[in-house]
Amino acid sequence: MIQFEGVTKTYGEGSNAVNALSGIDLTVETGEIFGVIGFSGAGKSSLIRCVNLLERPTKGKVFIHGKDLTSLSKREVRSTRKDIGMIFQHFNLLNSKTVFHNVAMPLLLSGFGKKEMSKRVAELLDFVGLHDKADQYPDQLSGGQKQRVGIARALATNPSVLLCDEATSALDPETTQSILDLLRKINKEYKITILIITHEMGVIREICDKVAVLENGVVLEHGSVFDVFTDP
Ligand code: ADP
Ligand code: ADP
Repeated sequence: MIQFEGVTKTYGEGSNAVNALSGIDLTVETGEIFGVIGFSGAGKSSLIRCVNLLERPTKGKVFIHGKDLTSLSKREVRSTRKDIGMIFQHFNLLNSKTVFHNVAMPLLLSGFGKKEMSKRVAELLDFVGLHDKADQYPDQLSGGQKQRVGIARALATNPSVLLCDEATSALDPETTQSILDLLRKINKEYKITILIITHEMGVIREICDKVAVLENGVVLEHGSVFDVFTDP
């Protein structure tokens, strides 16, 4: 479960201050696919960055499974990072490394031995349908294949939460569909809670259980996708 309690994020100070988020209260239940939709500048990235520990709220708290992310020790930061996978619009792969090494990176960083690591990477590549691409470099792959590598890397440490930052915005409709299908499979098979930020209504309608509409740093509406987007 992910909880936002009165989360405010302010960048800058005094007359330059920008309130990216103003008192966000939201709960994402375990096992849900939860979408946050809003235009550019709404505060979506700021919200997700407060979950993956890249930002700290200026005020308020974020909890994962009841643990307050705003007051973690260094050791807890490391273990919490492993519990949170993230995928990105532009994939964020290392172009100088093979697919194998991109997926192995988080395992290497968390101290896996070579044999165990190779086995796990093979399993992950199999799961995302890229078992024959291990020795290729990102430049040799299509956008959809790159995102599959991103997904394999994000799942490497067995996270309970997957954050998706405009993960299909750089992909064509057909590829978007196949990535959304894969996300649904991850949610079902591994019981991973998925938080998606997007400006695309199609993504919300296609796979989200719940949605929050964000505008100027506040939640305008939230609830089931059906309730929020079906006219009375
Ligand atoms: P979104 O992801 O919905 O586009 P962001 O969270 O990126 O929204 O941005 C929300 C607001 O905060 C915008 O006005 C943006 O310009 C501002 N903002 C985001 N990051 C920073 C930053 N590092 N420094 C200053 N302002 C920022
Ligand atoms: P680099 O390309 O960085 O020089 P290598 O390709 O030599 O690294 O790989 C280093 C180690 O990573 C290998 O000894 C092997 O254990 C593992 N490895 C790399 N690619 C694969 C792969 N496709 N399948 C299994 N293990 C691999």
